[in-house]
Amino acid sequence: MSQNSDIFEVELVDTYHYRMSYGGQSPFFRGLENGQLIAGKCTACGRVWLPLRPICSHCYAKAEAVVLSNGGELLTSIVLLHVPEHLKHLGSPVASALVRVDGADTCMKVFVVSPDHNFAKGRRLVARFLPKVGTIADFYFTTDV
Ligand SMILES: [Zn+2]
Repeated sequence: MSQNSDIFEVELVDTYHYRMSYGGQSPFFRGLENGQLIAGKCTACGRVWLPLRPICSHCYAKAEAVVLSNGGELLTSIVLLHVPEHLKHLGSPVASALVRVDGADTCMKVFVVSPDHNFAKGRRLVARFLPKVGTIADFYFTTDV
């Protein structure tokens, strides 16, 4: 018998439905809906941040939205033993990876799909977009360029 046997406990399930705002990063998510990668380019130092940041994290000047190509380079990756649910329909191996999109000064941690199971460093990638955008994980890169 536990020492806390006098503590009254019940099991409850709470479900919350709410609308969340992406605030100043909204252009990035609207870009995902339209099949584009939207970055923030600093109006002072010129750094390009992806995903978009409305304010430069380097010099704190205003950044303006710019559309990048959907191409990028694989910097590093680790193949996942379990494919994320929302990518299973692709039927290919998936890695969690760092990718630098062409024109960006930053890299992103994203999912990379490789039908030929080749996640070599330096491999060229192209972004693909899922039909419904809710989170930053609702796009991925593929080696099938
Ligand atoms: Zn700056």
